[in-house]
Amino acid sequence: MTAIHFSGGTIWRGAGNAPARSLLVSDGVIVALDEEADAAAEALRRAEGAVEPVDLADGFLMPSFGDGHAHPLFGGLEAEGPAVSTCTTVAGIQEAVARYAQEHPGDGWIFGASYDPAIVEEGLFDARWLDEAVRDRPVVLRAHDYHTVWVNSRALELAGIDAATPEPVLGEIPRRPDGTPLGTLREWGAVDLVLDAAGPRPREQRMRALERAGAYYLERGVTWVQDAWVEPGDVDTYLAAAERGLLPVRFNLALYADPRRFPAQLPAMRDARRRVEELGSPMLTAHTVKFFADGVIESGTGALLEPYCSGMHDHGMSVWPGSALEDAVRAVDAAGFQVHIHAIGDAAVRQALDAIERAIEVNGPRDRRPVIAHAQLVDDADLRRFAELGVIACMQPLWAQLDPLMTVLTVPRLGQERADRQYRLRSIDETGALLSFGSDWPVSSGAPLDGLAIAVSRRTADGVPDGGWTPHEIVPVPVALDAYSTAVAHQAFADDASHGRESWGRIEPGASADLVHLARDPRDLPAAELAAVGIIATYLAGEARYRATP
Ligand SMILES: [Zn+2]
Repeated sequence: MTAIHFSGGTIWRGAGNAPARSLLVSDGVIVALDEEADAAAEALRRAEGAVEPVDLADGFLMPSFGDGHAHPLFGGLEAEGPAVSTCTTVAGIQEAVARYAQEHPGDGWIFGASYDPAIVEEGLFDARWLDEAVRDRPVVLRAHDYHTVWVNSRALELAGIDAATPEPVLGEIPRRPDGTPLGTLREWGAVDLVLDAAGPRPREQRMRALERAGAYYLERGVTWVQDAWVEPGDVDTYLAAAERGLLPVRFNLALYADPRRFPAQLPAMRDARRRVEELGSPMLTAHTVKFFADGVIESGTGALLEPYCSGMHDHGMSVWPGSALEDAVRAVDAAGFQVHIHAIGDAAVRQALDAIERAIEVNGPRDRRPVIAHAQLVDDADLRRFAELGVIACMQPLWAQLDPLMTVLTVPRLGQERADRQYRLRSIDETGALLSFGSDWPVSSGAPLDGLAIAVSRRTADGVPDGGWTPHEIVPVPVALDAYSTAVAHQAFADDASHGRESWGRIEPGASADLVHLARDPRDLPAAELAAVGIIATYLAGEARYRATP
């Protein structure tokens, strides 16, 4: 295999390290830096070995990005239905759904994603509005948050949801005054009633979705993705894709722990991990289990220590009651899995930290790297516990902005004082905890540069507000770059260079050459220009899997 000799730009080696000038990659692995790299490249050339010179053209080479929390299958599937994600009105969604139904005749279910719940007050969408677009076939649209669906009357009918349906466990069915379901369903307990009636999406569709998701990521400089919600059927999809060599980027699977089916799920989880290990693909691991501690604040399902401003006694939803989360986390940890807990509200974050603390106490010390994802609200009393317990805070920098989701749906529910304590990126980083970044794509953009632009400014794409929202939580560019690369590699257990091709996230001899070449040095740019920095090429194990067209 040809060696690659990079030079002519800045080679970023992480915050606090001096950048390198040149780099030699051979057989997919970084072999030398600077003078050593130049000398080795020269020796290779003299011995008439093939060396491909890459001129960085004053650009910036860094470890490729990892996405610490995302839903690539969902993201890839969005292209398989009506395109509603850019619609800003109900009429626009109706039109997109009607057009899709016309172009795709048949009697099957129509799935679409993901609509913006902020375009209707309280996010309460009516089935009758969708009936105006399609009456005879069931339609299911997912909201941006992926915790909510909007369905038409035919879908409600096929799922058997009517005025007589009781409120489900872990779900909510908003109703009209006469008790009939409105058409919006919140959280799994309600959403699954419809999804179970619809049955799984065809295997071929899901394989296409993975390929599409991989291409999406490579274009944005990402070579590793944490799939943060994997159902048993999805494991088969990933295995089949890996077997056929179709996985475009590396994936780690977080197997979904459902409080309604745990601990009976545990043997299947071990089995999934074993099948993935036996395949031995460097593109696929399955060492993680995903828990939801709560829902989301925009629907009032995030679990809060103090009640919501919109309801006197309403603290939101705890997915695992009592000590159930603690018990489940302990069991999964004892089985050697990494835990990855969705916790949005401050009560959920505390419950997650307590569960991890207990697992450490009971199961004893080991290199476990537990993850709490989102951590939207963290109580002061819990801030230091991330560092103390070795918990990785996997946060979504793109959410730390005053967009309509925040101003219309979140702030009124939290009140100003709590709203101003959200997404404490800098505070958590300064406690010495490991801060990693993820996008939660397709909930929000999967482009790391979009998230980085907000992390370092806390301003919207339009520059609002001046000086940034809660500016004391702005993080410096080097910290943000590390959070989207090296820190994610640590989360992935991939930062040990002695593992060769399976280690990435660092520029040092022995590590896999998983790299991204940016057109400009992000440290030199105003935040407003960061999102538009060109991705020139994305390398995975020394191979350019994406190259910008010149
Ligand atoms: Zn998620």
